[in-house]
Amino acid sequence: MIDILIIGAGVAGMAAAEHLAAAGYRPRLIDKADGPGGRCATRRVAADREAAWFDYGAQYFTARDDGFRALIDSDLDAGRLIRWSPEIASAEQAAGTWLLTPSPDDRERLIGPRGLNLWVRQRLQAAGLRFDTGRRVQRISRDGHDGNRWQVESEHGAVEHADMVVLTPPAAQAAALLGDHARRIDALTNADTALSACHSVVVRAPALAECQAIFFKSGRLSWAADNTHKAGGRGEMHLWTLHSDANFSQAHVETPTAELADALIAEFAAATAQRSDRMEIVGTHRWRYARPGAGAPDADDLCWIDTRAGLAIAGDWLAGGRVEGAWLSGRAVVRRLIAAHALD
Ligand SMILES: Cc1cc2nc3c(=O)[nH]c(=O)nc-3n(C[C@H](O)[C@H](O)[C@H](O)COP(=O)(O)OP(=O)(O)OC[C@H]3O[C@@H](n4cnc5c(N)ncnc54)[C@H](O)[C@@H]3O)c2cc1C
Repeated sequence: MIDILIIGAGVAGMAAAEHLAAAGYRPRLIDKADGPGGRCATRRVAADREAAWFDYGAQYFTARDDGFRALIDSDLDAGRLIRWSPEIASAEQAAGTWLLTPSPDDRERLIGPRGLNLWVRQRLQAAGLRFDTGRRVQRISRDGHDGNRWQVESEHGAVEHADMVVLTPPAAQAAALLGDHARRIDALTNADTALSACHSVVVRAPALAECQAIFFKSGRLSWAADNTHKAGGRGEMHLWTLHSDANFSQAHVETPTAELADALIAEFAAATAQRSDRMEIVGTHRWRYARPGAGAPDADDLCWIDTRAGLAIAGDWLAGGRVEGAWLSGRAVVRRLIAAHALD
């Protein structure tokens, strides 16, 4: 049977692996992170499994495609996903004053009962898929002995081989792994700008009476969300995730989030009419590649495939971004490989 290696165990890698498994293949997944999930990233405030948690990458997702919808419905039934219905506000600064106004909508927002990361892990485990984490791939090249196969080199000198490689890291990282070979791939032409940056700060801050999520229409922030509300928690102090605005982050892409945290917290405090000295930083993270940027390819592409070379590329950045885009991309790769008889 064809030996398929998927690099990246985020949503695109998960979707590709699940569809391959459903078609009777046994793909292997490897990821550089400590666990699967990628940008569906959740952390606990303490090692204790019951400790409070926060999502610091994707915050929730929506489902429009029929196939994705069917999967979501079964995960809602299985308790792997729940609906989150926050009161939403919009924040805008005009003439130096922040206005926080209700901004209700009827969108269905899906979250994991203990964060989005666990959703990915549980799906992989439920499908019996093998994933090997803590394995950073450094180079992918043609096998010196068998030119029809790929050689995949990881940290600490580990080398393995595969007939087919499916790459799912962000575009710039996928291009770096392929080295000179990337120049032959049109989808990677603007790899560096396919995804834009985002600085993420998590603070312990007072719960707000008027809202549990905020879309920022101006300033340095784009989004704030109350994780304690997501988890059904109560109390005066909640865990809030703050995400910076994409333009702000692109302008400060080399600056660690810890150096920008005070400015981002000050803006959140001003917009919500609170004191920033009541807010305590719980975590910071810089996403160098977060959401679709100026160089993102056409969202209709969904994926890139070279059936003769046994190389495929998937990921949200090929499908308009977002969790659903990542899943559609992972599914499209497998559908197209099967339709082209590339796995026979
Ligand atoms: C701050 C932020 C907020 C967001 N908010 C939302 C939201 O609210 N709703 C929504 O739908 N989407 C949101 N998104 C986008 C969403 O998270 C992504 O679209 C989706 O998770 C991407 O999945 P993916 O599998 O394509 O990529 P990733 O999740 O990035 O997966 C790629 C995987 O490849 C691995 N990898 C990379 N390089 C290597 C290597 N050299 N060796 C081995 N493994 C490697 C990574 O560790 C990672 O696990 C947000 C993203 C961010 C960062």
